[in-house]
Amino acid sequence: MVNIVQRLSNIAKTKVKGTSTVSSPNIVSTVNHINIKPQVIKDTFSKTIPQEILGIPLKGHRVQDIPIIRMIEQSILHMNKYNPKMSPIYKEIVFESVPKKPKGVAYVPMSTRTLHVNSYYFDHIDEAITNNLNIFIKKGLITKDKNGTYKIAPYLRNAKSEIFETRLNEYDKSWSLLDKFMFHRVSMNYYANLVGSIAGESKSPVLLIEKIMKAGDNQSTLKKLGLFKSRDEVIKMSVDEQMSYLKQIGVHCPPPVNSVCVTYPDYAFNHEAIHSLHSLNLSPKLLQELSSEAKITEWCNNKVIQDTALKVSGYAAQQPLEFVAEVGAGLANGQVFDKEVMELYRFLKGPNIQNVSK
Ligand SMILES: [Zn+2]
Repeated sequence: MVNIVQRLSNIAKTKVKGTSTVSSPNIVSTVNHINIKPQVIKDTFSKTIPQEILGIPLKGHRVQDIPIIRMIEQSILHMNKYNPKMSPIYKEIVFESVPKKPKGVAYVPMSTRTLHVNSYYFDHIDEAITNNLNIFIKKGLITKDKNGTYKIAPYLRNAKSEIFETRLNEYDKSWSLLDKFMFHRVSMNYYANLVGSIAGESKSPVLLIEKIMKAGDNQSTLKKLGLFKSRDEVIKMSVDEQMSYLKQIGVHCPPPVNSVCVTYPDYAFNHEAIHSLHSLNLSPKLLQELSSEAKITEWCNNKVIQDTALKVSGYAAQQPLEFVAEVGAGLANGQVFDKEVMELYRFLKGPNIQNVSK
């Protein structure tokens, strides 16, 4: 729940641009002053956002949450294109601190269509970045060279993961909240998805090897290098052999950028919007079934489903509702997915997202 004391002390310390410093005695005097009036924020910062989006009630937000509110508004604006029923994507947007879920940016309980934004995540974003970095280092997926420069794994080097590597070396705790958020949820998350596609539950480097083999003229490049192996040959290898084969070929033929879910700046909130749109397509009974313990266990133990979901992301492989949200957000950003991914998405009644932009 909302930590009022923490919120009061935060607001008391924060200056609102163009106004006088908000001082604590006035705030303490009445509960109504704990939250900044939504209209004040919106009139100043969100000129291009339509009234129906500005009208969604906001609760619990603080001055430092303004960049995040703007990002959410942009996400709703974008996702409304895919909202044929035109019921508002969210009934309400609530900022609250959930220390139990330090990594959770936001969530939408499916039956409520309320967007809950975790202030705790944003208040501790440097810790989240450091924790993720340490996991990569521990797994040998990021190393440091003699000059102290971070390096990503050579076989996972492509146009997108290289952006992550560059940003990682530039990362500084003095960055703005928005820059940190982009770095964590876009660049770092893309690398995590790439890693997840080989180190997920089914630990199957085959998927990524296949993606490499299908892309461009990788097959002829590998044939010239004497490194080509057929699908049957790869499948017969042990997982360790497959890993060393992936390391060998990945250096010459990098994993295609689209081989996993590509995350975009507003991706995290588009993902939440898909949860909300998805719930409009589901009967309460089906909604309950898809999020049931039994369904999730079945999802995690079905090899065909796992192989399909891991083409999207590690998170998509965890449960059906997350799979839909990950794919839907990718589609809304113009990403194209495999036939099997799309079949599963439609089977689960994922929102109809036409790729008008691509
Ligand atoms: Zn989700």
